[in-house]
Amino acid sequence: MDNKPSKIKRPSWDEFWFTLALFYSTRGTCDRLRAACLLVDRNNRLVGAGYNGSLPGHPHCDEVGHLMVDGHCIRTLHAEVNAILHSTADLEGATAYVLGTPCIDCVKKLISKSVKRILFTRDYDNKARGGEHIFELAEISGVEMKRVDMDFDEVINKELDILTGPGGAFQGKNTSFKIKENNSKEGNYEG
Ligand SMILES: [Zn+2]
Ligand SMILES: [Zn+2]
Repeated sequence: MDNKPSKIKRPSWDEFWFTLALFYSTRGTCDRLRAACLLVDRNNRLVGAGYNGSLPGHPHCDEVGHLMVDGHCIRTLHAEVNAILHSTADLEGATAYVLGTPCIDCVKKLISKSVKRILFTRDYDNKARGGEHIFELAEISGVEMKRVDMDFDEVINKELDILTGPGGAFQGKNTSFKIKENNSKEGNYEG
């Protein structure tokens, strides 16, 4: 083995947590939105994580259909609520990484748990239920609420480079990732 330093560029924390949020969302049980929320403390340690899912032991929307009230499915606990309920530490000063625009109820819960930053990366239309007020609530509480642009093609390929590079889980394998565009509107991400 030579002793050369690795030139690999690791993902930033934001890129890393949002990638993990993507994978969490694959466990979501309602196909109107597969959401995810990660709660990370000041030292970038994971202290909570959740996806939107039915209560334990309850049927999933993906199996029995949605439970619709006023045009919205109410069967699942939201990802942010699950993340808070199953958090493993005090959330004061924590950052919430949320995959889609959080709803106002979840923003209120995150703020009341003293989360200091709420970052989200995909636009989800929550306006019908007061979503237009989420930035206002955050500002009053001194919470940073921000949409982070994330180029997942670029980010995941960077991560795959590490996974297939020296020491990576798939070292020596050849793979690349491409988000296939379809002709629907951006992301097709509205519940
Ligand atoms: Zn549903
Ligand atoms: Zn919510």
